[in-house]
Amino acid sequence: MKIPFNRPVVVGREHEYMGDAISRRRISGDGYYTKRCNEWLERSIGTKKALLTTSCTHAIEMTALLLDIGPDDEIIMPSFTFVSTANAFVLRGARPVFVDIRPDTLNIDERAIEKAITARTRAIVVVHYAGVACEMDTICEIADRHGVTVIEDNAHGLFASYRDRPLGSFGTFATQSFHETKNVMCGEGGALLINDASYIERAEIVREKGTNRARFFRGLVDKYTWVEPGSSYLPSDLLAAFLFAQLENAETIQARRKHVWNRYHRELGDWCAEYGVRPPVVPEHCRQAYHMYYMLLQNVADRDALIAYLAAHEINSVFHYVPLHGSEYGAHLGYRPEDLPVSVSSSERLIRLPMYNDMSDAETDRVVEAVHSFRPISSGVLA
Ligand SMILES: *Cc1c(COP(=O)(O)O)cnc(C)c1O
Repeated sequence: MKIPFNRPVVVGREHEYMGDAISRRRISGDGYYTKRCNEWLERSIGTKKALLTTSCTHAIEMTALLLDIGPDDEIIMPSFTFVSTANAFVLRGARPVFVDIRPDTLNIDERAIEKAITARTRAIVVVHYAGVACEMDTICEIADRHGVTVIEDNAHGLFASYRDRPLGSFGTFATQSFHETKNVMCGEGGALLINDASYIERAEIVREKGTNRARFFRGLVDKYTWVEPGSSYLPSDLLAAFLFAQLENAETIQARRKHVWNRYHRELGDWCAEYGVRPPVVPEHCRQAYHMYYMLLQNVADRDALIAYLAAHEINSVFHYVPLHGSEYGAHLGYRPEDLPVSVSSSERLIRLPMYNDMSDAETDRVVEAVHSFRPISSGVLA
């Protein structure tokens, strides 16, 4: 039996709620289940407003529209991230300014941010890699001092916290993903979290094709009209119905993922120590989201060999994030592949092990045993 890298899992009343959404005869956006999801997120994260979106990518695009990002604006972000973090701003003509990451958490290196700020800097986008928080005290302090907006790409970090405060509650905006590969999912989906109430009304407009339709439905205006540039960022209520069943079971999902993560961490510790492989680092003051289990091997040859070795044992593992500055478009922006050495080295050495919500102990054991039987080339030990 093959062990996949990821597998979407139904945890509760997904089918029932989708059936109920259909029988309510209103399955377009902002229906019954969308509202329940929004309220759930607001309560759970303590954000002023949560708006479900069609994806995390679209939620980031909304932040670019809400901040009126335009040509020549600069947006600071890690290079070690998903392409959507940058694209949302590039689409508006802005320039992503890539900063290197910390070698421990693989999060944006807060000590390198201030050097990257110029008169054109408008925002800092942080990505809480693997659901472990960036150094938010320092980052928010730098942003405040320079009058720059903080956005959290919190695709990995739902249910995690920094000094006991939930991730997603620090930035002016935070974005969530409910893509099939995330802890809580509905296939494709996302959310925009708004922590500065002055943006709520415009966010509703931008999300509804640039119209004041939301105010019309609340009876605040007698007809709805085109107010500003916008797009269609509302998911169908069918997807929200699926998602709500997942959110309701968030504790179960998180407990299962924690179990798998802890098992990997415990069982692979000796092997990592023996071969100089670095397991994930979670600082004391961060409660993590158990989004992924990764390891850093000593070099790219060992990492590639381990992925191939696991594949030969019918176990699907993956690498993660080719740094954006080293991509074809990164070169077009003027970056050289050798810039940002920690991002490059981490990307080359990182492997993510299979992890999904119904992963059994037997499956985890099979992965652990296969890793245990692998001898990194750099160890000089013959298999
Ligand atoms: C998954 C992911 C996204 C994109 O999420 P979608 O919902 O697929 O658009 C963005 N940023 C990060 C860090 C991600 O992991």
